[in-house]
Amino acid sequence: MYDVIVIGAGAAGLMAAGTAAMSGRSVLLVEKMEKAGRKIRITGKGRCNLTNARPAEEFLEKVRTNGDFFSVAFAEFNNRATIKFFERQGVKLDIERGERVFPKSGKAWDIANALVEFCEDKGVKISYKTRVTEILTIDGKVSGIKYINARGFERREEAEHVIVATGGVSYPSTGSTGDGYDFAASVGHSIEPVRPSLTPLVTSHPQKEYLNGLLLKNVGVKLFIDGELRQEEFGEMGFSERGIEGAVALRISRDAVDAIIDERKVKIVVDLKPALDEETLLNRIEREISEMQPSEFFSELLRKLVPKQLVVPLAKEVDFHSKTYVSKLSEAEKLRLVKILKGMVFPIVDYAPFQFAVVTAGGVACDEINKYTLESLKVKGLYFAGEVLDIDANTGGYNLQIAFSTGRLAGQLKK
Ligand SMILES: Cc1cc2nc3c(=O)[nH]c(=O)nc-3n(C[C@H](O)[C@H](O)[C@H](O)COP(=O)(O)OP(=O)(O)OC[C@H]3O[C@@H](n4cnc5c(N)ncnc54)[C@H](O)[C@@H]3O)c2cc1C
Repeated sequence: MYDVIVIGAGAAGLMAAGTAAMSGRSVLLVEKMEKAGRKIRITGKGRCNLTNARPAEEFLEKVRTNGDFFSVAFAEFNNRATIKFFERQGVKLDIERGERVFPKSGKAWDIANALVEFCEDKGVKISYKTRVTEILTIDGKVSGIKYINARGFERREEAEHVIVATGGVSYPSTGSTGDGYDFAASVGHSIEPVRPSLTPLVTSHPQKEYLNGLLLKNVGVKLFIDGELRQEEFGEMGFSERGIEGAVALRISRDAVDAIIDERKVKIVVDLKPALDEETLLNRIEREISEMQPSEFFSELLRKLVPKQLVVPLAKEVDFHSKTYVSKLSEAEKLRLVKILKGMVFPIVDYAPFQFAVVTAGGVACDEINKYTLESLKVKGLYFAGEVLDIDANTGGYNLQIAFSTGRLAGQLKK
């Protein structure tokens, strides 16, 4: 019998298990995959943006759901504490643009390995290829787990405390398949409906097939829901076969997904020249034309203003053939070009599924969890940590910090 069983060796589970073992408790960490921290290893495009160094207040503003609930765990183990923790584990860190923190090595593996070493040093026993199937309870108190072991046999293990750190349902190939929601529901917890967040957005733009692979830097993006401006962002936006992605699109996806689910009209309007107002941009276009030969094509003008891949779609939007002489461009067409450069409209009709979503919004309802301990208010000795909870944040290192802070607090097994 163990004092504590932690389910899931992701960011939250590893932090919780090592923390629980620090107080001398015997800890079993159960992971269904063959390795710990599969998801951590692919975070930040393989570089792992492990936290964000912004001041606490600004940090908490980036938490989109249940920020107030999370603020207690964050106060217990905040971004500074995370930085110190990894530095003590021997991982050198760098702070980059937007206060995002990465390992100096540029390797997400260093973060996953540091967490595994932390657990091993504190004496945590880790069982891989072991899938938990049930949480066992007696008289409103947790008593252990049922699991399928690496050889495919069902077994039980008893424990006074169980911490559920099974993650969400995004990128299920990393092991996060939503099992924790079933465990929570089976012992009486409510689950806030889960949906993809920080996920590519699917557009019905008629020229979308020309845009695949295009990356736009320094663009302004506005999200409109039912015609009302909801969010404004600035930065990078890209197009792939999954949809519109890049930091800006992912940030607006949180509200866009909810609006699509509610069958509301969603569009994004992209300002390709945010540094120029309409008049300055028109002057710039006039100047470019005056420096061109009258026999040069409209496409050559566009090429001076936007990336090559946007030339055909833009010409189609302005409704002016790209192989027409630039000297034939009327005043009205120049003005239309300005309007489109300052506001190219992409109707959003769908979002990419969990398989491509960075995080899961929704999860175990926070109002049934004690925010000072992360213990269930329904079952004594049962705790929750990480993405399985109904807490999610923007991109920028905030989601891993949620896992570390809640893992740390749950691992303290406070009553
Ligand atoms: C591509 C990608 C890039 C990302 N980049 C960043 C980034 O740079 N910065 C950032 O802050 N966030 C990033 N995130 C989000 C971040 O990785 C997650 O929010 C965080 O890892 C969640 O940690 P967790 O421990 O709660 O869950 P997970 O990491 O999902 O871990 C859950 C673990 O539980 C195990 N498990 C599940 N069910 C069972 C079961 N029944 N029995 C046993 N084990 C089980 C799983 O195998 C898994 O190992 C990224 C996510 C993705 C998908």
